[in-house]
Amino acid sequence: MDDCLFCKIVKGEIPSKKVYEDEKVYAFYDIEPAAPVHFLVIPKEHIMSSCGEVTEENSAIIGYIYQVIAKLARELKLDKGYRVVTNCGEDAGQTVQHIHFHVLAGGPLGKMA
Ligand code: 5GP
Ligand code: ZN
Repeated sequence: MDDCLFCKIVKGEIPSKKVYEDEKVYAFYDIEPAAPVHFLVIPKEHIMSSCGEVTEENSAIIGYIYQVIAKLARELKLDKGYRVVTNCGEDAGQTVQHIHFHVLAGGPLGKMA
């Protein structure tokens, strides 16, 4: 999608600090970290703008993203734990309309839910 910040990051039109990339997903550090380790994992394709658009047809990428997160957590030695967050919609504070998964780690994160 032309007007999407994260599509521009995937295309390299906006620079980012890469954590991981394969044919389906891109992971990069958040520009405004909310924890000592904070990166985002996104599908490279603009498959959906938020988790509110997940359907039977397009949901396979979600399981794949969780596989990638588990692999990255092992590689980055997030042995003491991490949190995966997906903000969905206005009240949750979603600011970028390209589905993304925040991975937060690197110290106690506090209770959130
Ligand atoms: P949301 O608020 O939609 O759940 O998350 C969007 C995230 O994207 C925010 O945590 C924000 O800091 C991050 N972000 C916004 N613009 C950029 C950018 O240009 N580069 C990077 N690396 N992260 C960004
Ligand atoms: Zn996009």
